Amino acid sequence: MNELKLSKRLETVAEAIPFGSTLADIGSDHAYLPIYCKLNGIVRFAIAGEVVEGPFQTAKNQVERLNLQNSVEVRRGDGLEVIQPGEVEVVTICGMGGALITSILESGKHKLDGVKRIILQPNIMAINIRKWLIENNWALLQEFILEEDGKIYEVLVAEKGNSIHSYTSGNLETELLLGPFLMQDKSEVFIKKWTSEKKNWERVLSELQGAKSSEEVQAKQEEIKNLIRIVEEAIF
Ligand code: SAM
Repeated sequence: MNELKLSKRLETVAEAIPFGSTLADIGSDHAYLPIYCKLNGIVRFAIAGEVVEGPFQTAKNQVERLNLQNSVEVRRGDGLEVIQPGEVEVVTICGMGGALITSILESGKHKLDGVKRIILQPNIMAINIRKWLIENNWALLQEFILEEDGKIYEVLVAEKGNSIHSYTSGNLETELLLGPFLMQDKSEVFIKKWTSEKKNWERVLSELQGAKSSEEVQAKQEEIKNLIRIVEEAIF
């Protein structure tokens, strides 16, 4: 992957950015996504936010090498602190766990005033993000799932509005875990992901059966049985 040829994962994110937007990509690492978007005319202006010095310098070097300093600004900082309210229309946060993405959104949510769309690509725990979107009045618009290099990724697209309208099956717990759009599509990749998750839970459950019984162990067993039931009822 580089700024000319994105991974399938980041290409899916780029395709969800409306043409002509202004963008902040938080946790941008090499700044491949904002640079690609600028080079391909998807964005007018982009900010690449990065908290760690090494990737921040790499991103700066990439932008300077391509002479894009006027349209791709690399800023060092934690999460959304690198943007001002109203400065960009689209925010992307990709390639992290759902818990970290959610904590970045939560601690910087005052910076999202004026942002029209957020595109989030959690590597795990998309459920945290779906819950955060509902609690913070962001409407889930689209979900994508894809497999690349043996890993499965989800991409969530949201705009300001009441997210609860996206959850229509009457079973919120299931939709939060699986994704309301993804569970309707039931794509091959989606089935593969949840078949594999179910197998892992079954393995943990059988390991717990050999463990010394305690309230904690019992609670864990119940939690896992519930997850297995949700997946079985929704998919198999
Ligand atoms: N977004 C790129 C992608 O999807 O390929 C890079 C993903 S990389 C796994 C995660 C990047 O996020 C790292 O460069 C890390 O330093 C950065 N990061 C982690 N927490 C951050 C935070 N709170 N604020 C800004 N950047 C952060």
